[in-house]
Amino acid sequence: MKYVLILGDGMADEPVAALGGRTPLEAAYTPNMDQIARDGCCGMLKTIPEGCEAGSDIANLSILGYDPRRYYTGRGPLEAASMGIHLEKSDMAYRCNLSTVTEGVMNDFSAGHISSGEGEALMIALDREISPASAFPGVSYRNLLVLHDAGGAVTVPPHDIVGQDITPHLPTGADAPLLIRCMEISREVFADHPVNRDRISRGLAPASQIWPWSGGKSPALPLFGDKYGKKGGIISAVDLLKGIGRCAGMEIIDVPGATGYLDTDYQAKARYALLALKHLDFVYIHVEAPDEAGHLGSVREKVNSIERLDEMIGTIMDDFSGVICVLPDHPTPIAVRTHTRDPVPFAILGRHRDSCTSYSEREAVRGKYGILEGFEFLPRLFRDNP
Ligand SMILES: [Zn+2]
Repeated sequence: MKYVLILGDGMADEPVAALGGRTPLEAAYTPNMDQIARDGCCGMLKTIPEGCEAGSDIANLSILGYDPRRYYTGRGPLEAASMGIHLEKSDMAYRCNLSTVTEGVMNDFSAGHISSGEGEALMIALDREISPASAFPGVSYRNLLVLHDAGGAVTVPPHDIVGQDITPHLPTGADAPLLIRCMEISREVFADHPVNRDRISRGLAPASQIWPWSGGKSPALPLFGDKYGKKGGIISAVDLLKGIGRCAGMEIIDVPGATGYLDTDYQAKARYALLALKHLDFVYIHVEAPDEAGHLGSVREKVNSIERLDEMIGTIMDDFSGVICVLPDHPTPIAVRTHTRDPVPFAILGRHRDSCTSYSEREAVRGKYGILEGFEFLPRLFRDNP
C-alpha cells in the first residue's frame, strides 16, 4: 500500500464570529477533505505533548512518530540538518537570527527581513572573528551558529522580546559566556559593515547583531525506513521540516514554486508528490500557508488557503488509489494569531469508515479513533491500512 499525508500547517481553528460561528475548516468549500472524512474515518490527535512548546517542529516530529519528549533537541540542529551541516557529537547548533537591537532594545527579530545575500556577507564576516565557534549563512535573517564541545544554554526566542530590553533575556548556562561574546563581536563586526551602511542609506533596518537561540545537539532519530519498513519522502518549503526529514533519512523532494507562504504553488506540490510515489511508499506534504494566514489574523486568507489545499488534495485523489490522510500540525487560531496546543482533527481515507460526514474540528471529535497521541498516528495508520 502507498500513503500520502497532507499537512495543512496551523489549519485547525476555533469558531469565528465573522464566519457565523463556524471555523475556517467548516466555512471553507472543501469537497475533497469532506470526502476523505465521509468515506473514511476521523479522530483527534494530541500533537504537542505536555511540557513541550506548541511549535511546528515539535508537532511534525510527533506526527512522523517521534516522541518530541525523547527526540527533540532544538530548532538549531534541525535547521543545520536542512542546510547539510554535519554536527559532531559534541557540537551544538544554535539558530542565529540577524536582528536589529537599538539602544539595548530588540526592535526587529528579522533585521527588516534582510535578504539572503546581505545576511550571507555578514555571517561570513562574523565567522572570521569568532573562532572556535562557526557562523553559517542560511536564508534571510535565519542563520546558524555552531559551538564545539558545547554544554548548552537557556535562550529566549527574539520574536518573544520585541520592544523589550535585551539584558534580562541574554543566554544563561554553560554556553552563555561564548554566546554573549559572539553577540558582542557581531555588534563590532556589523557596526560599520558595507551591508549595513547600504541598508541605512536606503532607509532600511540594519542588522546590528546576532541573536542565538534554540540550540541543541543533532537529534538521534531512528530512520524512517528502519522504523516503518517504508521508503518515505517529504515535501516542504520550510527548513525545519526539511531538517526533520533529513534527520529521519527521508527523501527531500524539492518543488519549484513552493514558497512556504500564501502564494505557494499547491498544484506543483501535488504533481511532485504523485511523481515521487512511483518510487516511494509514503509522501508527507507540508503546506505552510494556513499557518501564515493564522499569524496574520486574516479570515479571508485562511479560508482561501484551505480551499487551495483542498484543490491540491483533489488533484492527488484523481490519480492516486492508496491511503490519503489530512490533518494540521496544531491550531493557529485567527483569534490569537499564534499556535495553540489543542488536539487537531484528522481524517483517513483507507480501509475503514465511521459516521463522520465532513472534515472539521467538531466532526472529527465523533470519529472512531477518539483522541490519539501524536506519535501514535503513523503506527496506527500503517497498522490499520496494511
Ligand atoms: Zn505549524
